[in-house]
Amino acid sequence: MVQEIYEKIRDAGVVGAGGAGFPTHVKADCEAEYVLVNGAECEPLLRVDQQMMAFYGKDLLEGLRALMRCVGAKEGVIFLKKHYEEAVHTLSELTRNLKDIRLHTVDSYYPAGDEQQIIFEVTGRVVPTGGLPKDVGCVVSNVSTVINIAHAMHGEPVVNKTVTVGGAVVSPCTLTVPIGMDLSELVLYAGGVTEPCDYILGGPCMGQLVTSLAGLSVTKTTGGLIAIPKGHPLHEKKSTEINYKVMQSVCCQCSMCTQMCPRNALGLNVQPHKAMRAVANGANLLGDYNGIFSCCDCGVCTYVACNFGLKPNQIMKAVKGSLSAQGIRPVKEQRYEADRFALQKRLPTDRLIARLGVSQYDVPAPLLMAELKTKHVHIPLKMHAGAPSKPVVSEGDHVFRGQLIADIPEKALGAKIHSSMDGIVTKVTDTFIEISEKENES
Ligand code: SF4
Ligand code: SF4
Repeated sequence: MVQEIYEKIRDAGVVGAGGAGFPTHVKADCEAEYVLVNGAECEPLLRVDQQMMAFYGKDLLEGLRALMRCVGAKEGVIFLKKHYEEAVHTLSELTRNLKDIRLHTVDSYYPAGDEQQIIFEVTGRVVPTGGLPKDVGCVVSNVSTVINIAHAMHGEPVVNKTVTVGGAVVSPCTLTVPIGMDLSELVLYAGGVTEPCDYILGGPCMGQLVTSLAGLSVTKTTGGLIAIPKGHPLHEKKSTEINYKVMQSVCCQCSMCTQMCPRNALGLNVQPHKAMRAVANGANLLGDYNGIFSCCDCGVCTYVACNFGLKPNQIMKAVKGSLSAQGIRPVKEQRYEADRFALQKRLPTDRLIARLGVSQYDVPAPLLMAELKTKHVHIPLKMHAGAPSKPVVSEGDHVFRGQLIADIPEKALGAKIHSSMDGIVTKVTDTFIEISEKENES
């Protein structure tokens, strides 16, 4: 039975829909006491998970049950914010008489959707640096991932993704679209932009700024597309250019970035002010660097903590990247004791929104229930952690929606990919497959 669930998840190409796209069949291949559903959706402006929970609560429970069976969990917990009233109502009704599945609701704070925070809130445990949630008896999965698991139990592969289109667009909305659909089509559906913009792929804090949507399409992990006006303060903050001279001369080592760091509050040795000091001293970290691997790039240090407008999260990222490039991997540490005031240090989301300067974009983005259609998809072969998938179709092949088009390379970590529309394969490369509508259908 467990093997069957595992195989169905793998064959459907399910990957973590809310983060780096870790293949779910690999994540599910463990034993854990708890399965925690991440429904906190902590990034401001995104409206996917809260609406998915409200409308697809039964699917969520079915997927959760399957995952619990797979890992032998004694308890399933759906973690969400109190103010997601419709989702809380739907799921409270559905779980009312269940003994092994419950809700855990929290106030709106950032980053409530960080898996470390969820594990700590529900179990009081902290994943040590270099460790994984399973080391503390937990598996954490995003709402869309768990719903995809439910579909996988019925033999339905992952072929679409639900995405919030927000920011400076005419009609912010949440759309379910075929994987591979051009991102520019989503902006058009939202009525276009209200002024000249660039775009953030993902949420305002952790998303990546791009200056053009050309060649970019929806992947299994796309959760948000935010139009951000050129010249907006957040636009500047998200620019990837690091001005080391400014960082060196301005940082006064006040350590506010470390004091406000949510991972530091959990007792992990994440100290961005030391990384800033390292920059000033020629990139010598002056001590223990292992904790840097526990930085989750939430951006609190940059967007809220630093009163000089410096970007310690970019320095953390750069140092982490440099360590990885040198082949240095995190050393698995002992468990930590969280700061006893960790919960009091939580950053209210409305304060974050004000600091980001995006209050005017903090509006509803209603979910369109019908899936959008398109005439052409551009499906990347790497939408997940691990090796790119290997095409099993050729140019000119006729494919149908749900058909396998790329497989996991032998003995590699990876995920299967399926066609998201009926059509003809028009291009196959090492990095993507393009499919277009058949001529007589246009
Ligand atoms: S980066 Fe900013 S918050 Fe952090 S130590 Fe320097 S001045 Fe203080
Ligand atoms: S981005 Fe900054 S605040 Fe967030 S975990 Fe890393 S160091 Fe801490």
